[in-house]
Amino acid sequence: KLFNELQDLKGSIRVYCRVRPLRPWENQKQTILENIGEHGELTVANPAKPNDAQKSFRFNKVYGPMATQAEVFSDTQPLIRTILDGYNVCIFAYGQTGSGKTYTMSGPDNASKEDWGVNYRALDDLFQISEDRKSFFSYEIGVQMIEIYNEQIRDLLSNDAMLDNCFLNLRTLGILATPQPHGLAVPDASMHPVRSTEDVIELMEIGLSNRSVSSTAMNERSSRSHSVVTIHVQGTDLKSGATSHGSLHLVDLAGSERVDRSEATGDRLKEAQHINKSLSALGDVIFSLSKKNPHVPYRNSKLTQVLQASLGGRAKTLMFVQINPDVNSYTESLSTLKFAERVS
Ligand code: ADP
Ligand code: MG
Repeated sequence: KLFNELQDLKGSIRVYCRVRPLRPWENQKQTILENIGEHGELTVANPAKPNDAQKSFRFNKVYGPMATQAEVFSDTQPLIRTILDGYNVCIFAYGQTGSGKTYTMSGPDNASKEDWGVNYRALDDLFQISEDRKSFFSYEIGVQMIEIYNEQIRDLLSNDAMLDNCFLNLRTLGILATPQPHGLAVPDASMHPVRSTEDVIELMEIGLSNRSVSSTAMNERSSRSHSVVTIHVQGTDLKSGATSHGSLHLVDLAGSERVDRSEATGDRLKEAQHINKSLSALGDVIFSLSKKNPHVPYRNSKLTQVLQASLGGRAKTLMFVQINPDVNSYTESLSTLKFAERVS
């Protein structure tokens, strides 16, 4: 119901902003968070420059530092459930490194059930509903998990990655030139059937560890690549035999922080340019969709090509805009908020 209301307001794109709590070592008195209103208003100020004007933004929702994972999920759940009815849904987390993207999407490391992020909760919910509906429908659920790094796509769950732990040598995968209605943009990425939340947790842990294998080797690579978990759901109506396909993309984006061009060189500069390009391509796509432009520039990055079938059309998009409220991140937070304002 919430989403139907929002849909009327803003088409099929929603933007939720989440301000994470300050970490124990951050200065507790120096938060940029001034106020959160009841209707998605967020006001920030720079405590280091008390004479500067406050800045206000408005989103579909704003979560403050005290918001729980369950609270955040309760507003996401109706959207996720539509995939059982054959919709394609895409959920992103956008923000600088350390702003809580992975926390929102997956939860903290070794999370207890209470700390689970959107991805485990989503799957848990899907299994629950398919169980409830089992006299009428049968659902098959499959998971893919890829990483996009320097405009190259790698399978985080390929057998090679699992058996040899030789992630860095994995071949890069291609994208279908014409997007498929069911969202299978990277057909060569391995698809893993899952029957329970435990299956999913096991898979995602493998995927995440494949991501961090490379991160130690390549200096925190996980913050400089996009990870995309794709959940495919095929439903069959047991009476009529009719089938439906839905998909859910859960995207933990690369850190949005600006890299100092005077300092970055070589590989680091190349990475930064790729991230910049793909995040601005994503911004352009969502902006075009929000303005209902007839031309949507999907082709400008691998990220937008991979997600094409789940952005626009009947698809539903949700972006979590993650904010680190620490005073030292004020400038970055402001640029995150401006990015979000443009697409919301
Ligand atoms: P990112 O993925 O954007 O780099 P993380 O999700 O890793 O950021 O978050 C950075 C740190 O802050 C982690 O230690 C994480 O557990 C913590 N954190 C982030 N969001 C929250 C939150 N809402 N509540 C408690 N801790 C959080
Ligand atoms: Mg992260």
